Amino acid sequence: MTDVLTQSQTQSWQQDDAEHHLHPFGDSGAIAREGARIMTRAKGVHIWDSTGKVYLDAFAGLWCVNLGYGREELVEAAARQMRELPYYNLFFKTATPPVVELAKALAEVAPSHINHTFFVGSGSEANDTVLRMVRRYWDLKGKPSRKTIIGRENGYHGSTVAGASLGGMKPMHAQGDLPIPGVAHIRQPYWFGEGGDMDPDEFGLVAARALEDKILELGPENVGAFIAEPIQGAGGIIIPPDTYWPEIQRIVHEYDLLLVVDEVICGFGRTGEWFGSDTFHLTPDFMPIAKGLSSGYLPIGGVMVADRVAEVFKAEGDDFNHGFTYSGHPVCAAVALENLRILRSERIIETVKTTTAPYLQSQLNTLADHPLVGEVRGIGMLGAIELVEDKASRRRYAGNGRAGTLCRDFALEQGLILRATGDTMLMSPPLVIAPEEIDELVTKTRHALDLTLEALK
Ligand code: PMP
Repeated sequence: MTDVLTQSQTQSWQQDDAEHHLHPFGDSGAIAREGARIMTRAKGVHIWDSTGKVYLDAFAGLWCVNLGYGREELVEAAARQMRELPYYNLFFKTATPPVVELAKALAEVAPSHINHTFFVGSGSEANDTVLRMVRRYWDLKGKPSRKTIIGRENGYHGSTVAGASLGGMKPMHAQGDLPIPGVAHIRQPYWFGEGGDMDPDEFGLVAARALEDKILELGPENVGAFIAEPIQGAGGIIIPPDTYWPEIQRIVHEYDLLLVVDEVICGFGRTGEWFGSDTFHLTPDFMPIAKGLSSGYLPIGGVMVADRVAEVFKAEGDDFNHGFTYSGHPVCAAVALENLRILRSERIIETVKTTTAPYLQSQLNTLADHPLVGEVRGIGMLGAIELVEDKASRRRYAGNGRAGTLCRDFALEQGLILRATGDTMLMSPPLVIAPEEIDELVTKTRHALDLTLEALK
């Protein structure tokens, strides 16, 4: 009886979805024909769909549910704040207690030269804000020509006009005449895909020096900033060779660029440190944050700003004409604050670094001998598996992402949520995943690889 009910309820949701909902990053026509997967509840690292099927969410929602699902403290924090003050804005000389407390808590966990945050509603808004702040900074410094921001091919910085422009996703640029003027891109440090015969360290230098070439091509007097993710997330969990970031830092310093390190994925423990900037020893001028800031429970993001930049903004008497109705929404801020409190009091990032991440990485590495696997790589609670037809030459299967899609679908069938970018399998589980759940993740991934290999034959 329950099954029948579940089935008809699912169909009714799917039908209403098909008739009334346009999906982000999806083909709404195809989804309408196939029926959307309706997710209904979640607990810990597991999520249930409307048919009652349970999945291990090895993607933490969208790289964001760092504390896992079902933390009552976050629910309580939201409810308390809703009762006290559900909304007020930060415009025109105003602040609220949760926002002030959150800004202070963020300064405590960020690299020591970063002590200010401008709040926004999402990672995309954070990067829109960055573009405006970079240009405003150079105006205030009397160098208004330094407008151009250099990003990277296959980088991801969000879906708004500025975010998608700063990012280097070709399918996004193709829709809507992007990038906007004043944004340029350089190659990505993707050794597995583009390194050819070079060794990784040599390739890392080549990829970094593309920044210097681009600065010289555009004229250093016209370039304001370089933006990059510490590890490209959506692009395929691309971990740069060891030589890359030091060389980028040298170049940024030499040409006096602002460095924007997009921490939307890497922030709040994903790499086993508070920020990817800690992992790679970076000194950013701006750190866009979102996702893990609230473990995804409510939408909130921010731009963390280095002292040398914040001082310029503060020294100048003028208004900064930028902000959102939901900049520092008090309920979202209260939840983020509670999320930070839990991360700290339960020493979750320390546990990731000393225990969970080493275990995840060692278990993932056992998949390297699989005939379909060209490379396994990871840092912290991020893991990527490259699917290839030929290991030695790193040659892909024909079909442009078909192997990845097959593998993702076989994983889903077994109750495991992975993501595929082309033929690269990605995972980014909640930071709180337990060792036995890591075993489940790896066992199911191996099985999905076996089924994929069989299907490709
Ligand atoms: N920057 C990075 C590095 C991201 O991964 C994302 C989202 N995946 C964004 C920005 C955009 O964040 P949002 O989807 O919250 O706008």
